[in-house]
Amino acid sequence: MDSKTTEKCLGWADLHLHTNRSDGVFTPTEIVQKAAELELVAISITDHDEVGGIEEAQQAAEKLGIEVIPGIELSTSTRQLDVHILGYFINWHNQEILHYIRLFQQERLKRAEKIVAKLNSMGLKLSLDFILEKAGAGSVGRPHIADALMEEGYVLSYDEAFYKYLGNGKPAYEPKYKISTVDAVRLIHRAQGLAFLAHPGMDLSNEDVTQLIKIGLDGLEILHPSHNETKINYFYQLALKNNLLVSGGSDYHGDRKGNATIGNYNIPYQFVIEMKKAVGKSRLLVNQNFQKI
Ligand code: AMP
Ligand code: ZN
Ligand code: FE
Ligand code: FE
Repeated sequence: MDSKTTEKCLGWADLHLHTNRSDGVFTPTEIVQKAAELELVAISITDHDEVGGIEEAQQAAEKLGIEVIPGIELSTSTRQLDVHILGYFINWHNQEILHYIRLFQQERLKRAEKIVAKLNSMGLKLSLDFILEKAGAGSVGRPHIADALMEEGYVLSYDEAFYKYLGNGKPAYEPKYKISTVDAVRLIHRAQGLAFLAHPGMDLSNEDVTQLIKIGLDGLEILHPSHNETKINYFYQLALKNNLLVSGGSDYHGDRKGNATIGNYNIPYQFVIEMKKAVGKSRLLVNQNFQKI
C-alpha cells in the first residue's frame, strides 16, 4: 500500500503470516526475525486452525521490539463455499478455541491418511510417517504432502503436486474438516477476538462477500497477494460503507512458492490502532441477533 495513504506514518504491519506450526516453512522465531529486518512494527501469526506458534513469536518479538498480535486462520464453510476467517487479538488460551484446534488436528491427520491411501492406490509410494515428519509439531496439510511428493521425485515442483494430485477435484483430493463460518465468527468473538474475512477476492464472488458481511464480521482483509488494485479499492470502499475494519498481509508461507513475500503487503499501523479500539466491542458480543445466511 502507498505510504501516501497515511498522513502521519506510524510504521507498517503484516497481519497474515504462516509458520511451521501449520504449513509455513519458517519457525515463529524466524518469522519475527524477518519482520524485524524489514522494520515492521507489528505482525500477526495466523496459522491455519492453530495457535501453537504465538507464544514463541511473542517471546522472540519482545527482544526485537516488535508487536505480535495473536491470530488464527480458521477453515470454514458456508453453503459449500470455502471461507477463511482470520481471528485477531484472540485469547489463545481460551478453552473453546483449544478444543477446536485439537479437533482440527485430529481431522487433518485422518485426512492426510486418506490422501496417502489414494496416492498409494495410484502407485505412488509415500508413507504417512514421512509426511508427519515434514509437518513436525505443526498441523499436517497438503503442502507437506506436496513437499514429500517432490522429495520422492514423483513431481518436479510443488505446484505440479497440486496440479496433478492434491488440488481441488484432483485424484488425491480430500476435503478438509471445516466449521461453519457463523460458528467460527462466534468462536472468535467468545475468545475476545475480532473476525475478519480473509482474502475475499481470491475465490468468492462479490455477492458472496456481501452475504458474508451480514453474519457479524468485524472486518475485511483488503490487502492480499491475490488482490489487484481494483479489488483492494473495491473492498476498501465496501468496508467503509459497512462500517468494517480493514486489514492485510502477505499470507507468507516461506519461500516455497516463490511469489508472496513477507514485506511486500504491508498495511499502515494506523489500521491496527483502529482494530485495537474495537477489541471487546465486537458486534456479536453487543448484539447476538446475527443474521443467518
Ligand atoms: P490444506 O490446508 O491442507 O488444504 O492446504 C492448503 C494450503 O495449500 C493453502 O494455504 C496453500 O498454501 C496451499 N495450496 C492450496 N492449493 C494450492 C495450489 N493449487 N497450488 C499451490 N498451493 C496450494
Ligand atoms: Zn497455508
Ligand atoms: Fe487462506
Ligand atoms: Fe493464509
